[in-house]
Amino acid sequence: MRATDIIEKKRDGGELSADEIRWFIDGYTRGDIPDYQAAAWLMAVFLRGMSRQETLDLTVAMAESGEQLDLSPVVGYAVDKHSTGGVGDKVTLVVLPLVAAAGVPVAKMSGRGLGFSGGTLDKLESITGYRVQLSDQEIIKQVREHGIVLCGPTRSLAPADGKLYALRDVTGTVPSLPLIASSIMSKKLASGAKAIVLDVKVGLGAFMKCIKDARQLAQTMVDIGVGAGREMVAVISDMNQPLGCAVGNALEVRETVEALRGGGPGDLREHCIVIAAHMVRLGRRDRRESALSDAMAEVADLLDNGAGLAKFRELVEAQGGDVSMIDDPDRLPQARLCEELPAEQTGFVAQFSAMLVGQAVVELGAGRARKTDPIDPAVGVIVCHKVGDHVTKGDVMFTVYANDEPRLARARELLLEAPVFRDREQEPLPTFYDTITGSPSA
Ligand code: URA
Repeated sequence: MRATDIIEKKRDGGELSADEIRWFIDGYTRGDIPDYQAAAWLMAVFLRGMSRQETLDLTVAMAESGEQLDLSPVVGYAVDKHSTGGVGDKVTLVVLPLVAAAGVPVAKMSGRGLGFSGGTLDKLESITGYRVQLSDQEIIKQVREHGIVLCGPTRSLAPADGKLYALRDVTGTVPSLPLIASSIMSKKLASGAKAIVLDVKVGLGAFMKCIKDARQLAQTMVDIGVGAGREMVAVISDMNQPLGCAVGNALEVRETVEALRGGGPGDLREHCIVIAAHMVRLGRRDRRESALSDAMAEVADLLDNGAGLAKFRELVEAQGGDVSMIDDPDRLPQARLCEELPAEQTGFVAQFSAMLVGQAVVELGAGRARKTDPIDPAVGVIVCHKVGDHVTKGDVMFTVYANDEPRLARARELLLEAPVFRDREQEPLPTFYDTITGSPSA
């Protein structure tokens, strides 16, 4: 085979065989195929798209490009979740302990934030001492002993995706449905999951801006999972406004603790209960119609009776974190400056740009514009209102936590643009829009 033949076939709209895709991905991973040929191929895929079979073959080739985590010695049927990323999305921090507390063991590899969208690892690292880098052996041992792991990807997981993603980033080929879906799913398949819950965000603060695109991405990932023999659930959830109130690393850990104490914002609680319930149902392989509502009631209890919080504490301790920060969130990193931003007019909140809030938080130093930028764990924003709320001019809209005056000034400008007010009463935004399921045995 020759790389040029494969590039030309895709350029001319042909359908690549599984062997051709595997040969290309393996060659690129080894370094035999240079970046300039891979870049040309990515652009051909971007322009021509991929069939369902090609997308599955690409995902499996990427998943098998490195080592795969085998959780079967400790978890009979491993369940995982993935969020396509958003602003204030601390769902994994709440959900994983709930699922583990329900008796379903979980080992999840999460990522870092990039752009305006936050990352679970950055949030966890605001807890002093928390280790995100674990070896395969440590992961297996911790699942066996505690039933829960939340760490970063091991070095050898889907290396083809690591290389291709970096190349896509600089060749204008990130926003391609088959490339996004295969990138996400290759890592999920390689990390040992037998069942996967996908949280596909839609709205101004998400990759996918409209429901039609979000549904297509969700369906493509469900099809890949089913094609690879996995049980799949994809929920499409709102990201037009931040999830919960806290945006910023330590602030989100604090809100996680509030939620796990049975409090916190209502939208965050509702969201976490649904995602955790899907995971519990899949983990128990319970196909009864009533299984989801039963699991929702069960995880709501685990939120209210402190079992989820105890599991979170156990997780933090197992990974070397300072549990006194969980017992007393005032001990989490604190910012030097705190400023309340008032509403500039009276009215109903009609829109709330999650993207602008996310950008403001990056300006403050909580996120990164480039992969190598350092993170300030203490800074961030508390969003005090939701779409649908009535506010009076002068009410506090945001509390901003900063460590640097010029950064605070830039964040303030972005935040003032984030809400849009109307005179008319405004419907609250739904938390979820749709659910797509798929089963290899269906
Ligand atoms: N997340 C990923 O892991 N890959 C993509 O291509 C987009 C989002």
